[in-house]
Amino acid sequence: MKEKPDDEGGTLWIVATPIGNLGDQSLRMQELLQQVPVIAAEDTRVSRRLLSGRASEPRWFSLNEHTESRSLPLLIEVLESGQDVALLSDAGTPLVSDPGYRLVDAAHAAGIRVSPLPGPCAAIAALSAAGLASNRFWFEGFLPARRAARRARLRELKSLAATLIVYVPARDLVDVLEDALAVLGPERPAALARELTKLHETVCRKPVGELLEFCRSRPEQAKGEAVLLLGGSETSAVAIDAEALADELAAALPPSRAAGILSRLSGLSRKQAWAAIEQRRGGRSDRETLTNEP
Ligand code: SAM
Repeated sequence: MKEKPDDEGGTLWIVATPIGNLGDQSLRMQELLQQVPVIAAEDTRVSRRLLSGRASEPRWFSLNEHTESRSLPLLIEVLESGQDVALLSDAGTPLVSDPGYRLVDAAHAAGIRVSPLPGPCAAIAALSAAGLASNRFWFEGFLPARRAARRARLRELKSLAATLIVYVPARDLVDVLEDALAVLGPERPAALARELTKLHETVCRKPVGELLEFCRSRPEQAKGEAVLLLGGSETSAVAIDAEALADELAAALPPSRAAGILSRLSGLSRKQAWAAIEQRRGGRSDRETLTNEP
């Protein structure tokens, strides 16, 4: 490619590919894939479809969790010998919930030039259409598969003042939205971006409770691939440690004042806050863990 500087090593190109609609291939992507001598692909059968019309066959390497340890040193050798390599995932941008991090890390460590060919990414496409605050966002990728672990992770993210972007297989949407409802409450703003760029695309913004009903009542929403976006916390950018706060307030202030401040800052009810302060003033060791979930 023309952008290549006059040096001896090859360049590792990180190539974004369509997330559904093949019309989203960039001209640079097409040009590179017609001539790059070596391709490292998450699944070579999937990436092969992007090479139609190419005269010569590139050298292929498989790069995924099963093949990475074998392919990675070979790819670094290829790059050091002066050949360019294109890294592709099955769809979207490599390294975004997709393989490639170790290769890019190793390339930098070896002093190899790394250059991105930017393009489709489901997370960014979803954010751009969701109508939720986009000045700050947190890319979470996939939540844990098990419900208890998923809820625990959502609890950790609950106070984040940034739009949360989650990848979800559409068949799990109802389960994940049930968890979001339990942890974040029904009013938390949310958006669903499903089957983006494809025939049966859904882009729908509704609070969590309504979005759950929307998905429950439409079985077709359980098909395909989805991004779920959850609005950031508006109450606090910092998670309040209710336990530590109760300890400090109980030691420093009269009970009713301590309970009032604890309730206001932590989101605990006045009754819960009063009990927490009383427990601490009585020095009881059997006190309950404080939680301010809805
Ligand atoms: N690297 C990819 C990217 O840049 O978006 C993501 C790969 S990750 C293994 C696959 C997940 O991305 C899917 O489970 C889904 O959450 C999301 N995704 C991929 N294509 C999508 C699409 N067309 N519409 C909505 N979500 C999509």
